[in-house]
Amino acid sequence: MHPLVKKLLDLQAVDQEVASLTRDIDSLPAEEARRRKKLDELQRVATDSRNRYLKAELEVRSLEKAIRGSDDEIKRLNDRLNLVRNNAEYQATLFQIEAVRKDRDVMQEECLKLLEVVEALRPEVATAEAAVAAEGKVLEQFLAEAEALRRSRAGAIAEVRARREGVAAGIADDLLRDYEGLFKTRDGVAVCAVDGGYCQGCYNKVTMNDTARLLGKSSVVKCGSCQRILYLQK
Ligand SMILES: [Zn+2]
Repeated sequence: MHPLVKKLLDLQAVDQEVASLTRDIDSLPAEEARRRKKLDELQRVATDSRNRYLKAELEVRSLEKAIRGSDDEIKRLNDRLNLVRNNAEYQATLFQIEAVRKDRDVMQEECLKLLEVVEALRPEVATAEAAVAAEGKVLEQFLAEAEALRRSRAGAIAEVRARREGVAAGIADDLLRDYEGLFKTRDGVAVCAVDGGYCQGCYNKVTMNDTARLLGKSSVVKCGSCQRILYLQK
């Protein structure tokens, strides 16, 4: 094997170790964002139903106040009936009482309807707020576990990365960049074996010319199909 390819193969083993140590950690920020978005959505739903509940309750209170006002007005007008001095005034007062009572009945009906709305919203608010609390706990636990995972891996990751520097030393920059690009785009396998004349990365046949160059061990040979750096399987 070409000595540089041997070095790259060793480097690849280290990089695969780094990848397996960081793969789940790398997915944590996206997972956290997804969970926060879900919590925000639940929060929005809960705030919305609480606001609707408070608004309906406020309207009930203001209607109840208006109804009490009408009751007072009717009482006052009834008292006046005893004091009127002629029939015309009596009839006018009766008419006024009737008008106030009609308004009061309309308000009463509206108030009962709103009370039904309030009663229906009460469990909705409770359910929505319970969902927020539950999801909040799930997120809290996820964050704690994520932090514990990061902390437990930190030492191992630092150790492998330090080792990588030593393994990568002596490889020319352009070859190293080439290798790193392939490692990313070829699913963690930038250097691969040729077995029975076939590239083990893409399973295409390696040309006779490339096989001869591989046997010569004097140049770095790449697969004509997948561009991976090749070596001959013993
Ligand atoms: Zn290939």
